Amino acid sequence: QVTAVLEQAAIAIDRARLVRENAKAAVAQEGEKLQTALLSSLSHDLRTPLASITGAVTTLRELGERMSPETRADLLVSIEEETARLTRFVGNLFDMTRIESGMVKPKSEPVDLEALVAGLVERMGRLDGRLEIETSIAQGMPPALADRDLLEQVLFNLLDNARKYVGTERPVSVYVRRESETAVISVTDQGKGIPHEDLEAIFEKFHRRAKGDGRPAGTGLGLSIARGFVTAMGGTIKAESPAVRKRGSRFVIRLPVAAETAR
Ligand code: ADP
Repeated sequence: QVTAVLEQAAIAIDRARLVRENAKAAVAQEGEKLQTALLSSLSHDLRTPLASITGAVTTLRELGERMSPETRADLLVSIEEETARLTRFVGNLFDMTRIESGMVKPKSEPVDLEALVAGLVERMGRLDGRLEIETSIAQGMPPALADRDLLEQVLFNLLDNARKYVGTERPVSVYVRRESETAVISVTDQGKGIPHEDLEAIFEKFHRRAKGDGRPAGTGLGLSIARGFVTAMGGTIKAESPAVRKRGSRFVIRLPVAAETAR
C-alpha cells in the first residue's frame, strides 16, 4: 500500500512540474503583470500540496520503521489527500487550456437530465454523505442536447462549490424544467450568497474570494471551466445574487432541448 501511494505521489509531482512549465509558456503572451500574478498563484497552488507530500514522504522514509501504525496511517492519508488535490488542480488546468485553445469539441447528444441528476446525487453522496440534495425534474422533461460528460462535470463543480462554500448543514436544490425549446437546470444553495459586483467576475479564471479564514478555498478555475464547457455546448450559465433572492446563490444553466422532442 505504501509503495502504491508513493508511486502515485511521484506521478502527481511529475505532472505538476510539467503543468507548471506549460503554464509558464502559455502565459508568456499575456501582459507582464497578469503573467506574474498568474504564475505566483499557480506556483502557490502547486507548491503547497507538493511541500506536504514531500514532507510526509521524507518523514516516512526516515522514521517509517519506528513509527506507530497510527502515525504512519495518518501520513499516508495526508499524502493521498494532497495527491488527490494536485490531481484535481492539474486536471482543471488541463481542461482550461483545452477550452482556451478551442480543443473542446463537445458531443451533441440527447441527454436524459433525470438520469444525469440521479447519478450525480449518488456520486456526491459517496463523496460526502452529509450533503443533502433535493431534486425536482419537470414531468415529461425532454432530453437536452448536450455532451453528457461535460455537463456532468459542470454540475459536479456547482454541487462541489455548494459543499465547499455553504457546508452540509443546508440542503442544495437541483431543479430541471423546460422553457419552450430550452432546458433550464438550476442549482440553488442557502449559503451567504455572492455579492452583486462579483456575479460575473466569479466566472473569470483564477478569480476566487477568500473564505472566512482569509485563505482561498479553491483554485478559482471551477466556474470558468463550467462556463467554457457550457458555452462550447451552445448554452449559457449565469449566477444570481442574494439581491434577487433573499439569500444563497443560484446557478442557472440553459441548453437547447434535443431536436426530435422540440416542438
Ligand atoms: P474555486 O472554488 O476553486 O475558488 P470557482 O471558479 O469554482 O473556483 O469559484 C470562484 C469563486 O466563486 C469562489 O472562490 C467563491 O468565492 C465563489 N463561489 C462559487 N460558488 C459559490 C457558492 N455556491 N456560494 C458562494 N460563493 C461561491
